[in-house]
Amino acid sequence: MLRPQLHCLALGQAGFAAPRGHFLKRAKLSWRCIFASHAIRRSPCHMTIDITTEQDVTARVWQLLHSVPDPEVPVLSVIDLGIVRGVEAKGSHGVVVTITPTYSGCPAMDMIAMNIKMAVLAAGLAQVEIKTVLSPAWTTDWMTPAGKEKLLAYGIAPPVGRALDEPYLEDLQPACPQCGSTITELVSQFGSTACKALFVCRACGEPFDYFKCH
Ligand SMILES: [Zn+2]
Repeated sequence: MLRPQLHCLALGQAGFAAPRGHFLKRAKLSWRCIFASHAIRRSPCHMTIDITTEQDVTARVWQLLHSVPDPEVPVLSVIDLGIVRGVEAKGSHGVVVTITPTYSGCPAMDMIAMNIKMAVLAAGLAQVEIKTVLSPAWTTDWMTPAGKEKLLAYGIAPPVGRALDEPYLEDLQPACPQCGSTITELVSQFGSTACKALFVCRACGEPFDYFKCH
């Protein structure tokens, strides 16, 4: 069954057309715009009904995915990680999201797929399918520059260089996320998870995770 998309009237009434992406969900007796997080004190019958186009659905879901976090590094979205390979609308109320796992057997992937599904359903789409594509394999080169900055601010050194060059961990001196020094040294091939290595900063003495180039 098709579910109509309700637009946020509070924003629409301010003299602007309701921006794309302001979807409403029912919160007790009122409706709440989940993007602008203000309650709409109107009964649902006053809401406009907008049957969106496939183009709208695709753009909306891409936008939405920026707010779906990676469970292991919540400061990164699935877009920052570069694991979303495609978004394809299925009619005006369904979507197929294609993702590529970061590491085969990465335990976070099931949770990522579930988080994407829940976010898309909460935004008002009736159907969402998550398709997993293994080839070509994900590489840290797909991580966005914004994602790498967020990683560093979170205390994890982002991958250095390109995955194709296969740099040896022993040869690397990633900048310390705490003090920025590059007088750093590998301690262990594995950090808090298999996709990270443990380094120590010789300047400030702090150990830190390094997201391996892959
Ligand atoms: Zn340091």
